[in-house]
Amino acid sequence: MNDSLDVNRPGKHTYSLAELALGNRDSGDDTLTCITNGAGPSVVVCGGIHGDEYEPQIVLRRLIASLDATDVAGRLIIIPSLNFPAAHDGRRVSVKDGLNMNRTFPGDRNGSVTQRLSAFLNDALFPHCDLLVDVHAGGSGCIVVPMVFGWTSGQCSMTERDLDGLMETWGYPYVQHVPVVDTTSCGAALIARIPSIEIEGGGGSLSASELELMLAGLRRGLRAYGVLKAAADVDADADAAADAMKADPVIHLDVTDDNQYFAPVTGVIEHTVALHDFVEAGQVVALMHSVDGAYATQEVLARRPGHVLRQSTLGFVGQGAPVGNTGTPRRPA
Ligand SMILES: [Zn+2]
Repeated sequence: MNDSLDVNRPGKHTYSLAELALGNRDSGDDTLTCITNGAGPSVVVCGGIHGDEYEPQIVLRRLIASLDATDVAGRLIIIPSLNFPAAHDGRRVSVKDGLNMNRTFPGDRNGSVTQRLSAFLNDALFPHCDLLVDVHAGGSGCIVVPMVFGWTSGQCSMTERDLDGLMETWGYPYVQHVPVVDTTSCGAALIARIPSIEIEGGGGSLSASELELMLAGLRRGLRAYGVLKAAADVDADADAAADAMKADPVIHLDVTDDNQYFAPVTGVIEHTVALHDFVEAGQVVALMHSVDGAYATQEVLARRPGHVLRQSTLGFVGQGAPVGNTGTPRRPA
């Protein structure tokens, strides 16, 4: 592995992420792969910002293995497990500092391990980045439908319309519209005038179909953006399989605070609807069984109509814990 990053060096090269980001391997190590080939856009794809989100970390390794330098036009930098100290423990956050990495951007070069890893993305990679793709999953505590969301602004090279179009090429059933949070990777990208796309889907234990869907979406999206060459130059079978999984039509959703629903009491969750179901405002979406001796049941109601996007996979939760959320379809403009 290489210890100093040269993003302009032609070919496919793998680097020590620990050396690049932390200057040592004291916290273990993982990889960054940079594939540079001629003219084209420069894209950074990362996974594992939350260490218990396993699907992206597997899928990004498969993507790296599937690509030769000649499959890329421009530059593709892939980091399967950005928060590797957390990932190597299978935990959402690192035991080094307990920080939620996706609230630590733009990071701090002199800070804790997690803050320094964030600062590496922000300070060392954003200057070489036209588009950030940050891949997440439900993690160990919830399960999420496949969805794509993203951000751009008048100060970025991509219009809202082009970003919407690019997100639709992922072929996922939902494009979600939510406000950006400045301290996320995508929030920091927006401040750095870089458009970004965040991917969600899966969670809990791994499913093969979820992995295939995630890889297919990435292949379609990166091809549409132009950093992966057209089907003739890459694995045509993989692209055909990717296209076969494409959702049509794609539903655009708004998600606000009122789309979330929470546990009214400490107890056991019984979901009464399934992921993707469309529920009305006021509809019962879960029952909470209190454990204070009575096992009394309380209804949890949807506050806004929409498709069920996310559900807790925890059986037992404390009062106020998230149980799930919906996304409300946008009215046609
Ligand atoms: Zn995450």
